[in-house]
Amino acid sequence: MVNILEKKIEFLKGVGPKKAAILNKELGVISFDDLINCFPFRYVDKSKIFKVSEITDETVYYQLVGTVSNLKSHGTPRATRVTAEFRDDSGTIELVWFRGLSWVKTRFETGKKYVIFGKASVFNNQFNFVHPDIEDYDPQDFTLGESLQGVYNTTESMKNNGLGTKQIARLIKSILMQITGLLTEVLPEWILQSEKMISREEAFFQIHLPSNTEMLRKANQRLRFEEYFFFQLQMLRNKLKREHVIKGHVFSKVGDYFNNFFFQHLPFPLTGAQKRVIKEIRADLASGKQMNRLLQGDVGSGKTIVALMIMLLALDNGFQAALMAPTEILATQHFHSLSEMLYGMPISVDLLTGSTKTSIRKKIHASLTDGQLHILIGTHALIEDTVVFKNLGLVIIDEQHRFGVAQRARLYEKSEVPPHMLVMTATPIPRTLAMTQYGDLDYSQIDEMPPGRKAVQTSHLYHSQRLKLIGFLKNQIALGRQIYIVYPLIKESEKIDLIALQQGYEGLLRDFPEPEYRICVVHGQMKAEDKEFEMQRFIKKQAHIMVATTVIEVGVNIPNASVMVIEHADRFGLSQLHQLRGRVGRGADQSYCILMTDFKLTADGRKRMHTMISTNDGFKIAETDLQLRGPGETQGTRQSGLIEFKLGNLATDEKVIRHIRNIVVDLLEKDNRLALPEHFRTKLHFEKIYKRSYDWSQIG
Ligand code: ADP
Ligand code: MG
Repeated sequence: MVNILEKKIEFLKGVGPKKAAILNKELGVISFDDLINCFPFRYVDKSKIFKVSEITDETVYYQLVGTVSNLKSHGTPRATRVTAEFRDDSGTIELVWFRGLSWVKTRFETGKKYVIFGKASVFNNQFNFVHPDIEDYDPQDFTLGESLQGVYNTTESMKNNGLGTKQIARLIKSILMQITGLLTEVLPEWILQSEKMISREEAFFQIHLPSNTEMLRKANQRLRFEEYFFFQLQMLRNKLKREHVIKGHVFSKVGDYFNNFFFQHLPFPLTGAQKRVIKEIRADLASGKQMNRLLQGDVGSGKTIVALMIMLLALDNGFQAALMAPTEILATQHFHSLSEMLYGMPISVDLLTGSTKTSIRKKIHASLTDGQLHILIGTHALIEDTVVFKNLGLVIIDEQHRFGVAQRARLYEKSEVPPHMLVMTATPIPRTLAMTQYGDLDYSQIDEMPPGRKAVQTSHLYHSQRLKLIGFLKNQIALGRQIYIVYPLIKESEKIDLIALQQGYEGLLRDFPEPEYRICVVHGQMKAEDKEFEMQRFIKKQAHIMVATTVIEVGVNIPNASVMVIEHADRFGLSQLHQLRGRVGRGADQSYCILMTDFKLTADGRKRMHTMISTNDGFKIAETDLQLRGPGETQGTRQSGLIEFKLGNLATDEKVIRHIRNIVVDLLEKDNRLALPEHFRTKLHFEKIYKRSYDWSQIG
């Protein structure tokens, strides 16, 4: 029962304090329950015994039966390695140990048969086994038919301490034997029935000790369901709470600010998608609930003007608004473009960043507190504790993936009734992520580009084709266009990347000599004012080429720049490449994106280049990105409180997730506090896995 599962793992027979410490350190396992929640990551047919002569592949797990002889120590003065010969009737293969040597030397009896299990590695053109799993051979283990054996994640330190995959399997089996008939169900009966799922207990047995492939499939289905189910329950419960408990400012009016802007200052007609999104947001703002909405629109789709018009609604209702951007460059650019659009209107806008001078900062603080200032634009300086708004009604966060969850929360806590929050991102969110990582947010999308845009033409060149590139760039410059050349900078502190940029820059100075050509440079380690100076040179067309690290990734809007060259393009993820490409194609001219790489590329790298060349569709790119890298690496989720699934796979489970989400919606509609007896165990389990007790009375 619960009791047994909560027992400390060190009290399991065959574990003890030392192994318990290793299990804890390596797998985070503390209790029996934790261990049975470590599922195999693959299965092998245990009844299948290979021959030494059949070993041909480094990636396959082999199980062999044979004798061990000829143990030798190597290294002086102290042995650093022990080798042995493993023999069956087809041949011999070497076994190697680097640790636990004294134990190895006394481990084997001559002539006795052992089972070894593991992956073979290649050394000196020969296969060997390094630290294989070893057991005494018992013919009875092999008399049954198909017999699937789970393979568990183990580490070197686990294997050295008798915790190889077979030992883990044995420990788990012994726990399962002790809890037979005692593992409680956590899903409501009606769901088990409608989904035709096996019980929780059976699923745990079958995932570890599958009777056959079919039962394994069922176990997997059941436990994956459970994983998504409780996750969605959490998301949807939060959403319900936000909708029913947390109050929001009511923006009931559409007033002069909005209308004057709309009728007299609008620089271009809005696209249909922009209009629709503004409507969706307006409905939220008038509802009396706090808005928490994600606005997705591909680069260049025109999110800025939407942000502006929404801020005007806040002003119309007597509130202040803030717009937060991830970099100073972008904040400054927003400040300039919004000021320009608002020119001639009685609205005060100011800019607050890390490099705002103290005297100005003080003035801004004062005008925020007394309500003189309507709109504040800035970087995260905007959420410093000293910044107090008179009545902040709306916060817009541009390119949210640069802001962590914690930073968002700080903004949120700035006033008693939290401001409405609109998070804007150009990163297309694959549908599975929209339902998981962002499942508690509402979602709007600008799915239409402003008219007259020409699709960016993308090509892929090898570094050996550099001359061709230079020629092309010179032609473009002759046509009056400007060019970005971007170098990867994985971490802003990585010196090597900076050297690549410096060298690239020097090479460019030779190819594009002054005074005919002018090149400016922007990178992450420059002072803000220097960056701004260089940006301005480019904006004012005083430079033809801008050499940059990814600081320009987000938001920069310079319509005359029509060529984006990405150096070492294979070092960027797909979403990032797409973002960079979005910096061009903003004017009327045909634009180009050129991906530069070495000839030698990984399969993954080649696929990314191919994807970029073959599509401009941000959603397709995001889906491919998710498949190639998994959610953990997908741009846009890295810093936003990533959720990982044990059995679930976000790249392929879209249908399953949608289905389960609907079931949870049904459940909450039926019983939003999980108060019915039939939902009691579900509620208990929910509280247990999220390690807190919830006040369910808050909702509904
Ligand atoms: P993003 O969504 O990437 O932030 P921006 O808001 O920077 O896009 O808009 C990109 C460019 O498109 C800007 O130059 C902007 O003025 C222009 N733009 C936005 N909406 C429209 C529209 N409806 N018609 C014409 N141009 C537009
Ligand atoms: Mg933008």
